[in-house]
Amino acid sequence: MYRAEFDDPTGARFGLPTFNFRSAPAGLATRRQLAAKGLTPGRQDIAAQILWRRRGKVRCAYLYREDLAVPKREATPAQLAALLKAWAANATCPSCGQGREYYIPRRWGECLDCHDSGHHTTETREVTA
Ligand SMILES: [Zn+2]
Repeated sequence: MYRAEFDDPTGARFGLPTFNFRSAPAGLATRRQLAAKGLTPGRQDIAAQILWRRRGKVRCAYLYREDLAVPKREATPAQLAALLKAWAANATCPSCGQGREYYIPRRWGECLDCHDSGHHTTETREVTA
């Protein structure tokens, strides 16, 4: 009785593989479920739909293949702020406290000016990469 009414995995009746609410196969997800994982459907077509009844009305949600989903490109303002903050932290020299245009090289742990300024005259490191 539990909604065999919408069960149509081959799409013979609905023209699109159709599942009941909560019975969608693994590997398929709604746009919203993908978004929760930082993904969007990308350019893929709708793979299937789920149908269910709620208060007498048929509701529908489209399903996409999770393996074809792509990471969201647009960063939210909060994500951008976090990125900027991370950038500032990585581009501020711990030795002189200056904000630089570049990431402070990890191997030196300070900016190029500090590195070149004679603190390291005893260290004649070869730049290999
Ligand atoms: Zn510095």
